[in-house]
Amino acid sequence: MNFEKLLELLKDYAKEDVELVKKAYNYADELHRGQFRQSGDAYITHPLQVAYILAEMHADRDTLCAALLHDTLEDTPTTKEDIAEQFNKNVANLVCGVTKLSKMNFSTKEEQNLANTRKIITGITDDVRIIIIKLADRLHNMRTLEFKSEFKQKENALETMEIFVPLAYYLGAYRIKSELEDLALRYIKPDMYKRIAERKMNIEQASKKCLEEMLIKIKSILNDNDIPYEIKIRTKNIYGIYKRLSLGDKIADIHDLLAIKIMLNEVDECYRVLGYVHSLYHPINDKFKDYICNPKTNMYQSLHTTVFGPSDRLVQTQIRTFNMDLVASYGLIAYFSLHKENVRDVMQEELKSKYQFFQSLIEINRVFADNQDFVKQVKSELFADKIYVYTTKGDILEFPKGSTVIDFAYKIHTDLGNTMVAASVNNEMVPLNYVLKNKDRVRIIKDDLSYGPRKEWEEMAYTSYAKKRIREFNKS
Ligand code: MN
Repeated sequence: MNFEKLLELLKDYAKEDVELVKKAYNYADELHRGQFRQSGDAYITHPLQVAYILAEMHADRDTLCAALLHDTLEDTPTTKEDIAEQFNKNVANLVCGVTKLSKMNFSTKEEQNLANTRKIITGITDDVRIIIIKLADRLHNMRTLEFKSEFKQKENALETMEIFVPLAYYLGAYRIKSELEDLALRYIKPDMYKRIAERKMNIEQASKKCLEEMLIKIKSILNDNDIPYEIKIRTKNIYGIYKRLSLGDKIADIHDLLAIKIMLNEVDECYRVLGYVHSLYHPINDKFKDYICNPKTNMYQSLHTTVFGPSDRLVQTQIRTFNMDLVASYGLIAYFSLHKENVRDVMQEELKSKYQFFQSLIEINRVFADNQDFVKQVKSELFADKIYVYTTKGDILEFPKGSTVIDFAYKIHTDLGNTMVAASVNNEMVPLNYVLKNKDRVRIIKDDLSYGPRKEWEEMAYTSYAKKRIREFNKS
């Protein structure tokens, strides 16, 4: 890995931007001179790789500069002011933000660590690029974890699972998320990892013929109909398989173990191609999902259908546009290539308006003054398992597992929560402490003359948002 390789990725960048990135590289190279990684490589290879990961995702100039400089504040005599002067304020803020997050640990109870954990999580509200750089930093550190002590390996792997995997998921960065999961599992459960990796390889080999046959048929129908496309094969990541096996599923039952991904130019072509696929192969009815009309809460969009392929092998087909695929792979990070101007503002705006977890995070940050309570709540409310339920309009809302219809009402609107008198789920009346399950269709029945939320509701609610609204109502 050298700087020339990074430069190759910067062909589309403006000349003056490339110059600044070059300057950042030389600056960091100079400062890190004489420092080495545990692998024996010169230290500069690490920030260079982090910048490379980000350049692959078309990150903007300032992000790339900050990636190259991200360890200089901590490990060299340079200061934030120096960086602001040599580059610009933006770069200095990003480097400073990343540095602040560097020492944190989710599992300890030390106040210092808890405060740092809070910073990393709330850092997203200032400039999400800080988190994005941190994700790339963690990805490279996980890729090179073999050079660390066994204790450090386990510790980093667990921390990756607890913080960085959920963050990548929330930003919709599936590609980073699945690589982090697999790298972490490799160190947390090495034997299990090897066993599943082997089985996965065997299955890939055994299904090669079947998938190739499908590709030929699908390609020929697309060619006949003059639809431009790109088509790819993907298998589920090792952690994904591990999770299903640990739930008691057999490997043959995993309906999305093998997938064919078809990318197209237009949305209406997606539905046409879905019809073609179904005309070739029998779909399993309840495995069809339209995430184009109902995007996931992290903005993932695609059509999913699982069909019986040749020799009755289950194959999931994912159909989406090229732009949707960009968001599916990189999530919010895709905005680097979708919007060149003011990318920070565009990202913050998107995050605020479209990504549901952002509001929950703001709320938890507001409610919990104590760092330990904050971290505990984030873990149970944001980083724990999620369930997804439908509103009467068919919108999908995300809740932490354990949420009740009270949480649902308050998430829709405070007034709805405050005037709620009853609730029905899938057309049946339920008590107010009913715990929501995946795919529930929820209707809240209100009465404008109701007494308002009772004190006991606070106990029945699960999210801090609902609890706070109930408390506020009863105070006034
Ligand atoms: Mn680093």
